Amino acid sequence: MRIDVITLFPEYLDPLRASLVGRAQQDGRFALAVHDLRQFATDRHRTVDDSPYGGGAGMVMRADVWGRALDAVAGPDTVLVVPTPAGERLDQTLAAELAGAQHLVFACGRYEGIDQRVADVAAETMAVREISIGDYVLAGGEVAVLVMVEAVARLLPGVLGNPESAVTDSFGAGSPGLLEHPQYTRPPVYRGRPIPAVLTSGDHAAVARWQRDESLRRTARRRPDLLAVLDADTLDEADVAV
Ligand code: SAM
Repeated sequence: MRIDVITLFPEYLDPLRASLVGRAQQDGRFALAVHDLRQFATDRHRTVDDSPYGGGAGMVMRADVWGRALDAVAGPDTVLVVPTPAGERLDQTLAAELAGAQHLVFACGRYEGIDQRVADVAAETMAVREISIGDYVLAGGEVAVLVMVEAVARLLPGVLGNPESAVTDSFGAGSPGLLEHPQYTRPPVYRGRPIPAVLTSGDHAAVARWQRDESLRRTARRRPDLLAVLDADTLDEADVAV
């Protein structure tokens, strides 16, 4: 996979060189390039924005500047991702879908966002996804891109040390629609609190049952919205008793 990010603030994407995502690039799991939008502005002041038609607060990023940037970076095999609070909500299913793309281009908005014609014109020749990372408003798309690239990169083959992690994680294929059970490690007693005894029982079936029960309880307590839409076919009799 190749990922290109277009932004007014290339340094904002520096964290993508660190940790798991940075290592994945060094290992050749995917290639990433960051482009400065301002190099596609043509006037003396390198202007990228203008006041909105119809009035209103703030500035809007110009379609012609973005058009030149996309002409240089995107192609027919590209999935163009436009982060916006007005987009479809990012979830694990959407992250997995993006992880299947050959080429992702992320267009980071600033100010009031990008002239809508940029996404509309791009959609004539490539796939376009306008995506929100949650119901709140950030100052720019860069942080949303950090979130999306990390969510996508850890799903690429060979990136996670143990690919089973992605299956057993919250929202993973191992327990679709559920939060993961709590996790424990050494020491066995921390400030007077022992770990749940079942975890050292050596009874694999009992451990699996405990994990499943905790997962269901946690989801019911913290995310009743997830339980409400859970596919009943994924539940067994013991689940229903929880
Ligand atoms: N006027 C826009 C609206 O109300 O929908 C908000 C623009 S926001 C201040 C500037 C940029 O931040 C957006 O163009 C987008 O790139 C990014 N952004 C802000 N919140 C976001 C979110 N929840 N998800 C994804 N991107 C977001």
